[in-house]
Amino acid sequence: MTARLRIAIQKSGRLAERSLGILESAGFRLVKGANELLYRVENAPIDLLRIRDDDIPAFVADGVADFGIVGRNVLAEFGGARAPEELMALGFGRCELKLAVPEGFAYGGPSSLAGRRIATSYPRVLSRFLKENAVEADIVTLRGAVEVAPRLKMAHAICDLVSTGATLEANGLVAVETVLRSEAALVRAPSVHAGLDSVAESVVQRIRGVVASLGAKYVMMNAPRAVLPEISRILPGADAPTVTPLAGREDAVAVHAVCQESVFWETLERLKAAGASSILVLPIEKMM
Ligand code: ATP
Ligand code: ZN
Repeated sequence: MTARLRIAIQKSGRLAERSLGILESAGFRLVKGANELLYRVENAPIDLLRIRDDDIPAFVADGVADFGIVGRNVLAEFGGARAPEELMALGFGRCELKLAVPEGFAYGGPSSLAGRRIATSYPRVLSRFLKENAVEADIVTLRGAVEVAPRLKMAHAICDLVSTGATLEANGLVAVETVLRSEAALVRAPSVHAGLDSVAESVVQRIRGVVASLGAKYVMMNAPRAVLPEISRILPGADAPTVTPLAGREDAVAVHAVCQESVFWETLERLKAAGASSILVLPIEKMM
């Protein structure tokens, strides 16, 4: 039996679908087996371990899995020297760990929390933040429903994950500090299983390609030769564009460029104002 690389991903929840999606975009064909815990990749020696996100750092740190896809918040809370190495941010699962206080709380900086009780599911991350700010406060660790703690008089403030802020608002809370910015990340074990280095390398390369192509766009337009320098300046994160002649037009050229950053309407308007016409923005499927 040949060795198979293991990638730990969240079984169900906010990261589950996008984690599978990124692996599928990387060309790994998934076979959903009878086994709920394990999905096989049919065109590479890789298995996916589907587990709770909180367990992913330990699986990777202990080498049970070679890679994992997990939120930076979970990784930070796992803490210390044992935390697996983050290889790259994946651009989804964005959220922020924030301190929030009830409306009407006179907040004037972290020192306002001195001697207060703060409820959170992230005691390690919060305690690091308080230490950095030289504030001594009591941390109440809750597994869930952190946002109701102030109303129940269990805590004066909370430290919780926020993406839209709707939950805070619904509970009469106001965010006052950002403790951590988080998104899903690819993490790697201290060493991969024997004989799997080249498979591991291709996992990293392909995922890097998918992540790069997600934000990137292929931009095409026609433009007068004279404004080429200005157009290059406007195009966000583009290398030297490809410039080709237009049939029967001496003064104008076609410009093609890969833009590494999002192309907004505002950018298109600036290109048009600079003299470009027939501007097209296309998605990029793969990039290496
Ligand atoms: P599990 O059953 O795997 O333990 P969970 O309930 O702990 O799941 P989810 O709510 O699915 O976790 O969130 C998984 C991750 O999604 C979080 O750790 C975080 O990185 C990210 N995330 C993005 N937005 C939010 C948000 N608004 N609230 C909570 N997590 C978010
Ligand atoms: Zn969890």
